[in-house]
Amino acid sequence: MSYRSQVRGCLIGGAIGDALGNPVEFPSSHRIRERFGLYGVTDLLGEPALITDGRDRRPSCGAVMRSAPFGFDPRWTIERVFDVAVACAVQTHGHPSGYLAAGAFAAITYALVVDGRDLPEAVEVALDLVGRRPAHGEVTAALTAALALDRAVTPERVETLGGGWVAEEALAIGVYAALAHPDDVRRALRAAVNHSGDSDSTAAIAGHLLGAWHGEEALPADWVARVERRDAILAMGDALVREFSGG
Ligand SMILES: [Mg+2]
Repeated sequence: MSYRSQVRGCLIGGAIGDALGNPVEFPSSHRIRERFGLYGVTDLLGEPALITDGRDRRPSCGAVMRSAPFGFDPRWTIERVFDVAVACAVQTHGHPSGYLAAGAFAAITYALVVDGRDLPEAVEVALDLVGRRPAHGEVTAALTAALALDRAVTPERVETLGGGWVAEEALAIGVYAALAHPDDVRRALRAAVNHSGDSDSTAAIAGHLLGAWHGEEALPADWVARVERRDAILAMGDALVREFSGG
């Protein structure tokens, strides 16, 4: 799997996660089951399936959601990736758990894309970086809970990690969903949206992680084909690859 595939996969994976969760961002898991049946949302809705969360809304978990691309540049160290993501998150999110979760997400992405680690290893690396900062307790607790949680997914189990409206909870739910179905992006993203919390944000994070880990080939081709602005997103990925690889 190539660096280019992982960068493109990370970006478009986040897009399909956002689009899958968009129709159920606000309803409870009970209401989701009432509307969509026992398994909740299982497929993208709309042609194209719209991306909305990072564009039309201003999530309180917004800093973490936008931080994956800090982890793409192989010329940087992981410490620098973490520090720069934190410094940029601070511009809009002053709470330590907001900006430290952003740094953690960028570091996880770097560990996957540049260092070639698997997701459990990448999360451990991020936990080490977070743990060196003051006021890291909430982010450390959230990621530790995601690693430890029973991977037989139910909405209620996901909700033990919180609602995802704040950064460390969104990151924890995204990590958990990706770990629960590491080789099945459809199931992972369904797990990341069918709960009472901030479904499009948590699934965007899960999609970023799985695309960064496994590359764009692991993503459901029919979902990639249907997501809004697919061509622009993939072109952005190619431009970043050219920029960061010097060619
Ligand atoms: Mg959201």
